[in-house]
Amino acid sequence: MSDLFEVPECDKCRNPAVHHQVYSGRIMCAHHLSDSIRKKVSKALREQLHLPKGKHTTILVAISGGKDSAVLLERIHDNLSRRRDVTIVGGCVDEGIAGYRPPSLECARQLCEKLGIRFETVSYPELGFKEMDEVAQKILDTNDKKAPCSYCGVFRRQGINHLAERVGADVIALGHNLDDMAQTIMMNMQNGDVERTLRLAPHTNTPLEGMAPRIVPLRWIPEQEIHLYALHKKLPVHHEECPHGEGALRFRHRETIAMMEADVPGTRHGLLRMADDMKKLQQMAGSSLSKIKPVSCAKCGQMCSGTICKACEMKEVMR
Ligand code: SF4
Ligand SMILES: [Zn+2]
Ligand SMILES: [Zn+2]
Repeated sequence: MSDLFEVPECDKCRNPAVHHQVYSGRIMCAHHLSDSIRKKVSKALREQLHLPKGKHTTILVAISGGKDSAVLLERIHDNLSRRRDVTIVGGCVDEGIAGYRPPSLECARQLCEKLGIRFETVSYPELGFKEMDEVAQKILDTNDKKAPCSYCGVFRRQGINHLAERVGADVIALGHNLDDMAQTIMMNMQNGDVERTLRLAPHTNTPLEGMAPRIVPLRWIPEQEIHLYALHKKLPVHHEECPHGEGALRFRHRETIAMMEADVPGTRHGLLRMADDMKKLQQMAGSSLSKIKPVSCAKCGQMCSGTICKACEMKEVMR
């Protein structure tokens, strides 16, 4: 039979392949892809999450109903749920986006129920912010140059901090994948913003003052592999995209990174390694590379770099 019609085989077990990992040259079946993801997440957890002996640790896993955070929660649960000194809580921020948030919130709730994990949620109005649908409308009405995501990103961070405080979290786990990380590093480079790259999670060895440290156990795993894993595991996941996300700069960076990765496989890993090396250099140089000392916001008390925090500033604009 001609090779043309043959399904590629897994390079480990000869079963039908579902994925060609171009950056490593490997061809993988669903089982071996899942296996590699399990190993990568366990390794990242060992590196990023240091559980102090004799002390209880509560981990808030920020979930959205999407694939990344679903895989994150499922993996953290599998690795840590048998430990008596660890409590895992799933937390979802409700931004107030009709047609998008209610079904995704439901997926997040279902996943927590399935895994037997406590589920917490907080909405923008509960935090004193307007719902995102209203923010997006106001942006249109006032010809605001900012995209809805600029507001939403800042408000959501407050929401996650609020949930962390509510459950007494010692650590916050976020579902950023390799593509997200590479996009963020590129965006920071474009803005000449070294500070922001130095502040990137994981905060295991670089804690930020006044904030529960963030860990990002999926950061070396490409988005596509996470997607395949979520499908393979049949996790309840909402696949639609937010209606306000269109036109956000991040989407342009998504295309750019995808193009660079197609041309030079391994680009995403390279960007992330560079950011890690920058953080190491900063540690070697002491804190002298970091110009900004955090202070608490005059309005809400959260740690920030100016006199009032971005969230309070944006809340004011949206009044
Ligand atoms: S796409 Fe933008 S507006 Fe929509 S949820 Fe994400 S950050 Fe918020
Ligand atoms: Zn295989
Ligand atoms: Zn504030």
